[in-house]
Amino acid sequence: MANTLYVVSTPIGNLKDITLRAIETLKAAGFIACEDTRNSSILLNHLEIKKELISLNAANESSKIPYVIKRILNGEDCALISDAGTPGISDPGTRLISATLKEGISVVPVPGATAAIAALTVSGLPTDSFVFEGFLPQKKGRQKKLYQLSAEERTIIIYESTYRIEKLINELSEYMPDRLIVVCRELTKKFEEVWRGTPLNLKDEIKSKTIKGEFVVVISPKEWEERN
Ligand code: SAM
Repeated sequence: MANTLYVVSTPIGNLKDITLRAIETLKAAGFIACEDTRNSSILLNHLEIKKELISLNAANESSKIPYVIKRILNGEDCALISDAGTPGISDPGTRLISATLKEGISVVPVPGATAAIAALTVSGLPTDSFVFEGFLPQKKGRQKKLYQLSAEERTIIIYESTYRIEKLINELSEYMPDRLIVVCRELTKKFEEVWRGTPLNLKDEIKSKTIKGEFVVVISPKEWEERN
């Protein structure tokens, strides 16, 4: 299909988690819009794909979006990727996609890995209804958000960085001490680990653990423990 924007998921760690269709799409695209050309070059070299890479991120979106749209309208296909996982999921992409749709350009998903869904699927927590919060605000609004989430009746998924994971578990032990939380570290990678427990238990347990890498925290719905 020509004049199309393909939204292509890439691995969240393990390079084998690229789909056959993602490889085909990256090979066939006229060019690839990515978050960081250095990061994406590593994946493309691994796949032995030589293709023009254009960086598109929060800092340069305003100027790059019209350029990408112009090229698609001129007949090229563009594959949009991010540094890891699915574009637009706590990553750049949404602004390009909505601008592209406004131009009547077709946008096609090429689905694959997303850390949030990988974590949810191994959490053992309800998957029929959940809320994805991405990263919580770092300072302003963080406590308010945690307070609101303490009343949430759906499974909650949060992304957290190495630097704040301990802080988050401490905060959860204040706001939702009895919930079951599932902390997924370095999913699909060599040091993958999944810790389960109440925030109160994990707060002590993590003192003996390696607090490094990427984390997703999945939290049980309010009063779920009593029902199970
Ligand atoms: N677009 C990505 C996706 O589809 O999941 C998310 C990108 S966001 C900038 C990066 C955050 O996702 C990390 O800080 C972490 O919370 C989560 N994440 C990404 N890869 C992960 C992995 N392999 N294991 C655990 N968490 C991961």
